[in-house]
Amino acid sequence: MKKQDLPTKICLTCKRPFTWRKKWKRDWEHVKYCSERCKRNKANEPALLSLQLSRGVIKPLA
Ligand SMILES: [Zn+2]
Repeated sequence: MKKQDLPTKICLTCKRPFTWRKKWKRDWEHVKYCSERCKRNKANEPALLSLQLSRGVIKPLA
């Protein structure tokens, strides 16, 4: 398989495309982030958001 034939996805955190890697061989369909860092950043986001909402730092949309 040539490199340009490898599947790619868009990282949910940094919105950049990333390419299939051997370590994702078994769970590629569940991979959503390009790196562990992006995975952690995304995981922290909802908690931070609800904290800001509860403190009135930001207001909910609508
Ligand atoms: Zn990323």
